Amino acid sequence: MIKVCKFGGSSVATKEGYFRLKQIIEADEERKAIIVSAPGKRFSGDEKITDLLYYAFSVIGDKGAYSETADKIIARFSVLADFVGFRRIKKEVEKFFLRDGLFTDEKTFVSRGEYFSAKIVAEYLNGDFLDSKDCLIFDYNGKLNFAETKVRLKKLINPNKLTVIPGFYGGFFGGQINLLFRGASDYSGACIAAALGAREYENFTDVDGIFEADPKIYEKARVVPFLTFYELSELSASGAKVLEEHTMQPLVFSCIPLVVKNTFSEEEGTRVEKTRRAFTGKPIGITGKKGLIVFFVALTSNVEEAKTIRGISSFLAEKSISTEVFFVRRKAAIFVVKKEKIDKCFFPSDGIADRSEENFDKRLCFIEKQISRLYGVAVVCHVGACSVSVVGECPEPTRARAVSRPNESNVRPIFSQSVEKYSSVLYESFEKNGSEVICAHYSEDDNVLDFYLKCNDLNEAVRAACSVVFG
Ligand code: ASP
Repeated sequence: MIKVCKFGGSSVATKEGYFRLKQIIEADEERKAIIVSAPGKRFSGDEKITDLLYYAFSVIGDKGAYSETADKIIARFSVLADFVGFRRIKKEVEKFFLRDGLFTDEKTFVSRGEYFSAKIVAEYLNGDFLDSKDCLIFDYNGKLNFAETKVRLKKLINPNKLTVIPGFYGGFFGGQINLLFRGASDYSGACIAAALGAREYENFTDVDGIFEADPKIYEKARVVPFLTFYELSELSASGAKVLEEHTMQPLVFSCIPLVVKNTFSEEEGTRVEKTRRAFTGKPIGITGKKGLIVFFVALTSNVEEAKTIRGISSFLAEKSISTEVFFVRRKAAIFVVKKEKIDKCFFPSDGIADRSEENFDKRLCFIEKQISRLYGVAVVCHVGACSVSVVGECPEPTRARAVSRPNESNVRPIFSQSVEKYSSVLYESFEKNGSEVICAHYSEDDNVLDFYLKCNDLNEAVRAACSVVFG
């Protein structure tokens, strides 16, 4: 079985990155398929090749601006090509940016960052280059054609040799390039790992793995050695920026373990798998999210709870306002939505003419009034709210139900109390910190404790929570 490895932009931007990449590949014979990004930043303040490519394409009509940017791109690839001793590619890069690229479409133009990157890495590793337009295949509607991708990879990859494939784009059946979204090389690698039925998908980046909290916010944050897919999705849903958001989908679908590692260190990184073998009973991570609006709907004794809740949910859905979290407490229903959802919705038929920021209050007021008028309930709306979430070891969704049977007491306490027990201390620490707690919610099945706060500094609140939980 093979391992599929993806190297991010910072790993393929310098000679040092190339050295490490080679060492890593040579250290494990199973590392056979390699997906690469375009060269990224070499130092803080540097430019990513992909950004330069988008810019260059946008100024193609302005000779001076274009040639200045094209020169920068050519120079970046030349340094890498010289290092590898691959002279022919320099000619190809120049020919593209000084001639052919002027007559091509934006997608093809931007995809050349990954294309040339993969060609140079393939030469360096003495491996085969495989163009992703020929093996990562999408239908006309942009959906991955998994079956065709599998067939093509099987046909085109020599399992006994190293193959280097560009990330970030694939191809349609007719051979045209399908450029994906920003940061999509993570996803390209995941699709290829799934289609090849790889032993694991190793994602090499410039951080040591997935941290229990953002280390820029909480310096003492440690790397989490193990997570389940479900736990990782809980962390991401609560605001942790871990991997590009589509990446998990093909891995979960094909049950391929994911390993997130640092190209530049020997750390073990984080391993993500379907099931957890050992439970420690400790929280895994803490994340924060801002820009939330919390709608508090009072459910007095004279409203029919279920009907009201259903009504409000469909009212919000009709207005295209998807709910982040929804829960019911004694005598209150709480709907949490992102502020940007309200920014984006507008109701010309309701007399609100545009999406502008000035009309935000009008839109919000309209929603509040409509809810209370239609359902006869009082609505209190907290704008500018944040959430701080503590995520614990989550059982698989199906197992959660089984273990919540009270007689299975040997398993249940580990799941259901690992996070909940922190609620009162966290409450106190937020208040001490000057944050106002709007409400808190503990979802036992997922083992996640969410606090909704009014605070001036979300990072301060996350730090306060981390000190309580991680010490
Ligand atoms: N180079 C692309 C970007 O910067 C894709 C990637 O690196 O994942 O978005």
